[in-house]
Amino acid sequence: MAGKKGGGDADGEAAAAVDPIGVGVGAVAGLTDRQLGVVPPPARVRAEGFEVMEPPVDDEEAAAGRRADVAALLAGFAHHLRDRTAHHLGYPYNLDFDFSVMAQFQSFSINNLGDPFIESNYGVHSRQFEVAGYITNCGTEGNLHGLLVGRELFPDGIIYASCESHYSVFKAGRMYRVECVKIDALVTGEMNCADFRAKLLENLGRPAIVNVNIGTTVKGAIDDLDRIISILVECGFQNRFYIHCDGALAGLMMPFIRQAPKVTFTKPIGSVSVSGHKFMGCPVPCGVVITRLEHVKVLSTDIEYLSSRDATIMGSRNGKGYKGIRKEVQKCLRNAHHLANRLKEMGVSASLNELSSMVVFERPQDETFVHKWQLACESSIAHVVVMPNMKEICPRGNNKKLDDFVEELVARRAWHERKVFDILCVAKDIGQENCLCSLHN
Ligand SMILES: *Cc1c(COP(=O)(O)O)cnc(C)c1O
Repeated sequence: MAGKKGGGDADGEAAAAVDPIGVGVGAVAGLTDRQLGVVPPPARVRAEGFEVMEPPVDDEEAAAGRRADVAALLAGFAHHLRDRTAHHLGYPYNLDFDFSVMAQFQSFSINNLGDPFIESNYGVHSRQFEVAGYITNCGTEGNLHGLLVGRELFPDGIIYASCESHYSVFKAGRMYRVECVKIDALVTGEMNCADFRAKLLENLGRPAIVNVNIGTTVKGAIDDLDRIISILVECGFQNRFYIHCDGALAGLMMPFIRQAPKVTFTKPIGSVSVSGHKFMGCPVPCGVVITRLEHVKVLSTDIEYLSSRDATIMGSRNGKGYKGIRKEVQKCLRNAHHLANRLKEMGVSASLNELSSMVVFERPQDETFVHKWQLACESSIAHVVVMPNMKEICPRGNNKKLDDFVEELVARRAWHERKVFDILCVAKDIGQENCLCSLHN
């Protein structure tokens, strides 16, 4: 029996994500609020929950009825999940997986409690598969771990992160009470290196803990790691910096793209983290964080009760695993490319970073549409993250899901074409060259 679910109360960060105020009104003169992306905040969708019920009197008949109710409820829920999966486009989750061979492990409570390399007294674990780094509960935990290592190495350090960084980076700053300096981003979403240099020079006395994005959350932008390292050295931070690379989604795609910059421990980085439920398509949230062995020591405490060592953020750690990947990456990039072109052909402003599968486009003004396709929106834009579960589209298109999406978007877009001059201006979010509003087209 489930309790009534409380919906609604978003925290400040989430509220800010849908807050349309502060989108740079005035940056592009002569446009209305709506053209600038100032849309009224959506009504909070309250998650529907089940009523709390008194348990029925305990007789045979009631028990059988209850079992039938539970079966019907679960079947209905499975149906609901199938429908929501069929209409999912907005978040970077690969929904295509077959874990049937893993089913045999569902009857075990696999828990890698404690250090990834030191066995605890709890024997039901899968440490033998943890060959590098440790399995986290999500990408956020990877960031919390990497930045904590940085803070432990440089207790008086400052965290530098571009304003396009994931909110978990700023959360880490608050949790660890480390000063966090936000760096401007380019319109592509990449860290503005000139601004990074300027802000470093303002704080020469304190070490730098830098979050480098290997694929930002909204635009899929990749910060220039090599340039960031040389700026640190040029500004005199040699041996006084720590770099954490946040590769939640794209960290697992980069190794398969020939022209992509290399993220490797042969460069002076301290840690890298990725999410497992994003590109890899794990059915439960998880991730991996890798750091240098010498750094792990700064966090490690031996725990007698575990007969292992505490070196991780969480205690209990999911020990259920993974599948391999390949060539899906190229398919995603191709599909993303087609989708972006298709949208532009249909008059919808869209952009796509070179090494990314995130197609950014003008924010739909219809919350029902946003809800149906589960789109993540920010400021004047929304995105579709093209994942391996979307079938290959040929140039003229036979991908039902993406086709349906484009068709419906264009049909519904009449919402702002009723008035002349009313196509949303997205220039400040994706650049004038990608904007098809009446001023920039
Ligand atoms: C999704 C994401 C995260 C956090 O991932 P969770 O697994 O949801 O905690 C961190 N960084 C970036 C860039 C992301 O896109």
